[in-house]
Amino acid sequence: MKSGQRLRQIANVLNGSTPLGLLLAASAGTPVRRGPRGLLIATGYRWRLPFAGAFAVGNVVLFRVGPERALADPVLLRHEERHSTQYACCFGLPFLPLYFLAAGWSVWRTGNPGSANVFERHAGLRAGGYPDPRSATPTTARRGRRSAASHKRNEA
Ligand SMILES: [Zn+2]
Repeated sequence: MKSGQRLRQIANVLNGSTPLGLLLAASAGTPVRRGPRGLLIATGYRWRLPFAGAFAVGNVVLFRVGPERALADPVLLRHEERHSTQYACCFGLPFLPLYFLAAGWSVWRTGNPGSANVFERHAGLRAGGYPDPRSATPTTARRGRRSAASHKRNEA
């Protein structure tokens, strides 16, 4: 583990976000295993919320799929890892209201919670399953906006 990853791991324990992620995983009955770079991988998450295939709470990355499929998607894991770093940069739990504000702004601006969300843009829109308005032509951007309501998100 690199020193920055170790620092993130310690910060997210001390700021309470990783303990909250572990509490959530335990409450939801999802097994947790050690992942790469100080991450903890929780799989088989079944609760209805959030509407996402994967999401991070501190250093805990919770997946709806089982461990084989979770670890077979390094692009999505890297995306969620960036959210773990964002928790550390926000001193832990303040990340959550800041994220929801950014998601609300994004819904207002683009019709989906990711495309104009600063946290999702930093984590990588395509990796997170969000349309990237920067890569769309004007025609496809309009089409993307219309279909955003039915866009099934892969992650949060
Ligand atoms: Zn994301």
